[in-house]
Amino acid sequence: MLDSMQEKPKFVFVTGGVLSGIGKGVTTASIAKLFQFRGFSVRIIKIDPYLNIDPGTLNPIEHGEVFVTDQTWTFRPVDGFEFTISEIDLDFGTYERFTGMDVHPSQNITSGQIYLSVILEERKGGFLGRTVQIIPHITDRIKQRIWDVVEKDPIPDILLVEIGGTVGDIEAMPFLEAVRQIVRELGRARTAVVHVTLVPYIKSVGEFKTKPTQHSVRTLQSLGLQPDVTICRAESRLPESAKEKIALFCNIPNERVISNPDIPVIYQLPLSFEEEGLGDILVEQFGLESRTPNTESWSKMVESFETANETIVIAMPGKYTTLGDSYKSINQALTDAAAAYNARIEIRWIETEERNTDECLKEDLSDVDGILLTPGFGERGVEGMICAASIALKSKIPLLGICYGAQLSTVAFARNVMNWKGAHTTEVDVDSLYPVVDLMDEQKLTEDKGGTMRLGGHDVRIIKGTKLHDLYGTDMAHERFRHRYHLIGRYLKKMDEKGLKVSAVDSTGRIINAVELTDHPFWIGVQYHPEFKSRPDNPHPLYLGLIRAALEYNKMRVKK
Ligand code: GLN
Repeated sequence: MLDSMQEKPKFVFVTGGVLSGIGKGVTTASIAKLFQFRGFSVRIIKIDPYLNIDPGTLNPIEHGEVFVTDQTWTFRPVDGFEFTISEIDLDFGTYERFTGMDVHPSQNITSGQIYLSVILEERKGGFLGRTVQIIPHITDRIKQRIWDVVEKDPIPDILLVEIGGTVGDIEAMPFLEAVRQIVRELGRARTAVVHVTLVPYIKSVGEFKTKPTQHSVRTLQSLGLQPDVTICRAESRLPESAKEKIALFCNIPNERVISNPDIPVIYQLPLSFEEEGLGDILVEQFGLESRTPNTESWSKMVESFETANETIVIAMPGKYTTLGDSYKSINQALTDAAAAYNARIEIRWIETEERNTDECLKEDLSDVDGILLTPGFGERGVEGMICAASIALKSKIPLLGICYGAQLSTVAFARNVMNWKGAHTTEVDVDSLYPVVDLMDEQKLTEDKGGTMRLGGHDVRIIKGTKLHDLYGTDMAHERFRHRYHLIGRYLKKMDEKGLKVSAVDSTGRIINAVELTDHPFWIGVQYHPEFKSRPDNPHPLYLGLIRAALEYNKMRVKK
């Protein structure tokens, strides 16, 4: 029999308590980083207990941005049924940025996928004679999906599984039961349960309150799960007395109560965990070889974020401005690129449903250094976005349009420079006289909405002699897409004469991937999402380009 200490992988299950949105994703990614610091390989699963097959049809206000993977996955719940998945939870963006690894869409498991596959299998006669039940049929399927991810070659040293939501949520019960079974089957030398909770500081009494944590740990224990480590989100590091109290209630030693304090740069978190000894605690629990963590290059990168001393303002006109997470990867890509130039970003959200006239947008844009025209869907806020692009066109504010932003800035050019009144995307105006943005041919017959856009990674051919080519310094790139509509070539041909150039196309040359203005310091629209490929230690050339142009614009603006 194999010595269980040698067996791969070791499992780290991350559960949450008290509230959602306390940074379980960043915590999971940071724990993965602790293992990477020691040279162990990692893979991460995120479980989302909602019934959607994937988050692709969700409004970003619900759970934040939809992250797009490079690879697409054909999910076959049973023979004869297929779903294309490339749209997954935004936490995967955090995982990719922290670990530097590309994730596979099958690493995002939803209740929708699990239930659908069990129910369809029942119709095929897969459970003949039996009652199909949550336990064991749903829980078995969950375990099988987890093992499917594990068994992809090469098997990682560590598998992290983040369970979305908080313990006690009805939807998450089968997943926590599956975790309980895995923990029982494999034992403590191969599994660790890390519970993330909130410890509020009550100013009026000057005290950290541990009661919510006690309750959530109790809920976890009532499900048969004992935390091995409790990670406490709090304004600052917890005092020893609070740690002692929590340790007592959790049945764990004091050093296994780990602080997760407010920090100015999220990439600091793995270093903060390292200081609290979390890496060594987990390595020891798993009986892994004790190695000195190599944090040097990560620390250097974090330092470059901390020492940034200039601030530039980037406007983001769009409609999902009430939730910062709606554009999480964009915010991060901007921050990553700015740090490379020793600068910080201040994002100016502009809700273009309300701010949609030339007058108020001129005012909003009078003290910004650049514009990021956001991705999106549908009619709401569109006129304001087109108006913001028109202002940037005339006043030479640097502009980067992403997907819908690229489409709408092209509409702005068509209306203002070509004088094509009523130019539009057919997503908003099907009867437009100048439909400069229209459905792709393959989309015209598609009725289903989930997983049917042009998705995932595709080759991009960058045209020589363009600004885009200067930024990339190569003829070919590989970028991630998520769109149904596209820029129409016959209109772009005419716009070319007036200075809007096609700067990238797909590998067939049919689909326009990027446009740029010749007579403007920085006006680029891309049909893809470069933000998904930006890494803190390797920012994306397009975001670097925008930041550079914004810094120059800032110098001129401040001089005036
Ligand atoms: N709504 C546009 C399309 O479907 C843009 C999508 C996006 O911004 N991701 O093509």
